[in-house]
Amino acid sequence: MLATEDILQKLEKKKIPRFRAFQIMQAVCREGKRDYNEITTLPRDLQKDLQAELPILSIKPVKKAISKDGSTEKVLFELKDGYKVEAVLMRFRDGRHTVCISSQAGCQLGCKFCATGAMKFGRSLTYDEISDQVLFFAQELLQQKKHVSNIVYMGMGEPFMNYDNVIKSLRVINDPSGLGIGARNITVSTSGICDGINKFSEEKLQVNLAISLHAPNQDLRKKIMPVANKYSLSELMEAVENYLAKTGRRISYEYVMLKNINDGEAEAHELGKLIQGQLCHVNLIPYNATGNQDIEGSVPKKIIGFRDILESHGIPVTIRVTMGKDIAAACGQLANRAGSEKRIETDKTDKKDE
Ligand code: SAH
Ligand code: SF4
Repeated sequence: MLATEDILQKLEKKKIPRFRAFQIMQAVCREGKRDYNEITTLPRDLQKDLQAELPILSIKPVKKAISKDGSTEKVLFELKDGYKVEAVLMRFRDGRHTVCISSQAGCQLGCKFCATGAMKFGRSLTYDEISDQVLFFAQELLQQKKHVSNIVYMGMGEPFMNYDNVIKSLRVINDPSGLGIGARNITVSTSGICDGINKFSEEKLQVNLAISLHAPNQDLRKKIMPVANKYSLSELMEAVENYLAKTGRRISYEYVMLKNINDGEAEAHELGKLIQGQLCHVNLIPYNATGNQDIEGSVPKKIIGFRDILESHGIPVTIRVTMGKDIAAACGQLANRAGSEKRIETDKTDKKDE
């Protein structure tokens, strides 16, 4: 669905009154209407007109996989030009429904531990292709009288390599006359594109920022994250300090635990010293297999030891719970690989399945 202001512009050109835009947004985002024929407040001829000119979803859901425990649902979407992206819905026990969305088809940054980085890069998504991943799950949840509570930009792609579309999608997802998801419940994750972090610091958005750090020094970071060749760790720390000073918002660091690569006691102390004193939080991520033969995940004992060392430096740490591993929907596994997904035929069969 387009942004409210873009719908208003379209309607204005056709001399259709403004209130129709708000009727449409209400029906689509709050009542979960997937077809203009169901929006009975609209005149018949307008319903037909809009069906062709203002599609409700700009992306087509083609496959769906649900984890055995039912908590995680991965959907493969096809874009107009045939590129594909994935998004994931996670149902947490505490009632939260978090949607993990993609900002690009593929990723140009090639981190060694990430399946998305190993696939061929397609293109950046338009803003509505990003926000429509949320709309799809929001509509699905509405049918069960549930709501999307949180959004993470942690799917395929690097959000700050598609900066303008990501910012516009944030405004659409946050728009009170549309999806209306609170900015504080949205997190954008970047691998450390400093220009993006600096611009983001000026946006006056209440959105959270996560930094994929994964190494406590430049040498190691360069080995596993080629992006460090362009933006060094010291530049990254400068951008983070600037962000903290401008926004006063807590930053979260993501650190994927890789056996004998970045999980030693020395690295834990080095990381502790690097970020000590910052308003921050560290998320340790158990590694999810991607097919790279040179990389294994750290054993749980090692992860716990790493956490304890960071805590001894006064840093708040959580160990991320892994979800959706059995359907390759966990962090770093999104790569449009064929699995046990069910093909989604039409909206109608989709509804029947539920
Ligand atoms: N490109 C952005 C956002 C997408 S990645 C970024 O890198 O931040 C979302 C998170 O999953 C990142 O922290 C990423 O480093 C992490 N990740 C990538 N591959 C992983 C893997 N195989 N196992 C666990 N986490 C992984
Ligand atoms: Fe791209 Fe993020 Fe994967 Fe690195 S971890 S390759 S930046 S999607």
